[in-house]
Amino acid sequence: MVFIKNVEDFTCEKCGHKVEGNGYTNHCPECLWSKHVDNEPGDRSNTCGGMMEPIEVAKKGSEYIILHKCTKCGVEKPNKANKQDNFQMIVQVSSNPKRK
Ligand SMILES: [Zn+2]
Ligand SMILES: [Zn+2]
Repeated sequence: MVFIKNVEDFTCEKCGHKVEGNGYTNHCPECLWSKHVDNEPGDRSNTCGGMMEPIEVAKKGSEYIILHKCTKCGVEKPNKANKQDNFQMIVQVSSNPKRK
C-alpha cells in the first residue's frame, strides 16, 4: 500500500480563500467546502471535480467529522475537521444540517 501525500496550495472555488496545503487538506478551512477529487483520501484520482458541500457535522469524541456531499454526483464522504477550520462554520452546519 502506498501512502500518498500531496502538498499543494489551492484557492477555494467557493469563497476564494487561499488554502495552504499541508498534504492533508481536503477542504477549505473558511467555508468548509471541499472538492471531489479523491477516491481514497489524498489520491486525487477521482475525475468528478464537483464541489462538495458540508451538509452535516458529527462530533466523535473530541473530533468533528464533516459530512461532505458532492453537488455534482451526490456522493457523501465524511472528513475529519482540522484544527484550523472556522469553528463558526462548524457550529453553523452542525446546528443547521442541510441533509433532507
Ligand atoms: Zn472556502
Ligand atoms: Zn462527485
